[in-house]
Amino acid sequence: MKKILLFLLAFCLVLAASCAEAPKEYIAQITAMDTTASIKVYDAKYSSVADECAELLIKLEAELSVTLTGSRVYHLNKNGSVPVTEHLKALVSISNSVSSATNGAFNPCIYPLVKLWGFTVNGENNVPSDEAIREALIGVTTSQLSLDGNNALISNGGQVDFGGIAKGYAADLIRDNLKAAGVEAALVDLGGNIQTVGTKEDGKLWNIAVNNPNGDGYVCILSVGETAVVTSGADSRYFIGNDGNRYHHIIDPKTGYPADSGLLSVTVVCENAAIADALATACFVLGVDDSLAVLEKFDAEAVFVSKDTVSFTKGLENKFTLDKTVEGEYKTVIID
Ligand code: AMP
Ligand code: MG
Repeated sequence: MKKILLFLLAFCLVLAASCAEAPKEYIAQITAMDTTASIKVYDAKYSSVADECAELLIKLEAELSVTLTGSRVYHLNKNGSVPVTEHLKALVSISNSVSSATNGAFNPCIYPLVKLWGFTVNGENNVPSDEAIREALIGVTTSQLSLDGNNALISNGGQVDFGGIAKGYAADLIRDNLKAAGVEAALVDLGGNIQTVGTKEDGKLWNIAVNNPNGDGYVCILSVGETAVVTSGADSRYFIGNDGNRYHHIIDPKTGYPADSGLLSVTVVCENAAIADALATACFVLGVDDSLAVLEKFDAEAVFVSKDTVSFTKGLENKFTLDKTVEGEYKTVIID
């Protein structure tokens, strides 16, 4: 009898072990580009690709960071020119194309103003004098970023800051790497920059929540296929000045002050993540009306959140669901 019981116990253990499922998902996490990034693959056999993508963020940061001594951008800002890499070259040309399409609302040469307001890695936030802003503005508006053969150039002692586009660019590369390795479902989160890859295992759409910039929780859910969903908001980085006013990190290159278009956040949905990132920053500066033609030009859609209204472009009509917790808090408008 004892032998039979032992045999049954052993049998059950073997059965339990064979039934235990291999882990299905894997998340690679890393702190890079001033954010905590996560790359989640829905099949753990792709864990090493996810890890490699996380490492890629460190490499990109070393190349593109404005503050890391020795980065390409650091040298560009110091010397006015630097030999390009594939990534720097791509960023110069995408930045310039979004800059000209947005009439300069996205300006990659914004760094003197970003520095002045203290929105750098170790910067101290303070409200600059009008005179200091005027001076920095001259540098921002007169400098031009360009490519000359294998060099990136910045004129007039200007200074580049790719903070408004680099995470999006990284998301494009990560998506391409994951897909090239055969990944069929992944969710990449680079702090406000979401990139989906494929569809979820059951073929369902991804539900991406958009933060409520007016408070806690979410303002809406966007149900999307493979795309970038990028949010720029007044709530992600800001300080309260001695005057009691709130100052956030997206600067209007026309005034030198934090953008004041009446928006609290803009979320852009676009196939190209670098474009989505740059457009989110630019649309936040431009406001709803001036953003629409630009979004159309880049085949992008957007959700705009202000104090009391959530408006979204027509292409999101079947993808948008207002979060129940904010019903009554916001008027919802579809922009036709
Ligand atoms: P994002 O969160 O993508 O909107 O990027 C904000 C960051 O982009 C800031 O922290 C600055 O580094 C930079 N930035 C601020 N204003 C602008 C602007 N008007 N155009 C381009 N980059 C900007
Ligand atoms: Mg951006």
